[in-house]
Amino acid sequence: MRKLLFENLLKGPVTERAPAMEDAALAELGAALERAARRKLGRSLSIREVDAGSCNGCELEIHALNNPFYDLERFGLRFVASPRHADVLLVTGPVTKNMQVALERTYRATPDPKWVVAVGDCALDGGMFAGGYACVGGVSAAIPVDLHIHGCPPSPLQLLKGLLALLDKAR
Ligand code: SF4
Repeated sequence: MRKLLFENLLKGPVTERAPAMEDAALAELGAALERAARRKLGRSLSIREVDAGSCNGCELEIHALNNPFYDLERFGLRFVASPRHADVLLVTGPVTKNMQVALERTYRATPDPKWVVAVGDCALDGGMFAGGYACVGGVSAAIPVDLHIHGCPPSPLQLLKGLLALLDKAR
């Protein structure tokens, strides 16, 4: 036991280093997003994430927005548990047959004005799952889409840029 303890102390952490990122660029992007949300809505932006059938790769990047590294909430953006409290639906994955009705209901439950952002290459047209027996297609096959963010999966910075582009477009 003691040997193992000393070995671990000498080895140091086995996890990878966090990716290098310019804090100033992130802070500027986040602040621009906060200003755009206040201009457009008069308050913070609320986001409801919907997994319509993804492999969860896109979810990992979306969750990263809330971790201490990116800390999205410091810019006034927050994820909400109900579509009734949301301004934006952030939808990932190809739409599966099992999730189509749930996605349509979620869309109807979201109050106007609302925007739909399709996240990831699968959300555009089904991606690598297109044509599969369980796949309906991209998000636009089920509900209207306002913006698509490319990537497999898109990085947290790409997600922030996409949300900013959405608010700029909606102005
Ligand atoms: S775009 Fe890539 S990461 Fe996202 S759900 Fe599809 S395969 Fe997974």
